[in-house]
Amino acid sequence: MNESLKLSPTEVDPWRFCKDGQSWEIRSEVAAFPRLASEFTQGTLFCRVIGRVNTRGSLSLQVKVSGEVGMTCQRCLSDMPYKVDMARTLYLARNEAEMERLDALPDSDAIQAGEVLSLVELVEDEVLLSLPVAVMHAPGKCPA
Ligand SMILES: [Zn+2]
Repeated sequence: MNESLKLSPTEVDPWRFCKDGQSWEIRSEVAAFPRLASEFTQGTLFCRVIGRVNTRGSLSLQVKVSGEVGMTCQRCLSDMPYKVDMARTLYLARNEAEMERLDALPDSDAIQAGEVLSLVELVEDEVLLSLPVAVMHAPGKCPA
């Protein structure tokens, strides 16, 4: 794919993004994601990131990604359908200590955020984390 068709990083100030309750969404071919293009053979992903402030003043990003894509079966190396459907809430932490504190809370994940955050890279990170180590057809279901 032509490099010019790749998605730009879409950088935001994550703190302002959450404080202002901003949101960002995109529907794009997997081939346009610089770090996902090699994971998937085809398909489209719908991504949404929403900034929030909770009642305690903690800032968080709600990340949702879904779509029907194709991946390469690690047993027969042929294409197989795979469904991406993930949703996570990530709290913003200014430093490592804050990140450990937030991570320790129940149902809480934290990311260390600086002044600039790439939403495309954030979405890519979350999708990559959600993928199984090896994708394979069900036992005995590989096409002959
Ligand atoms: Zn297979």
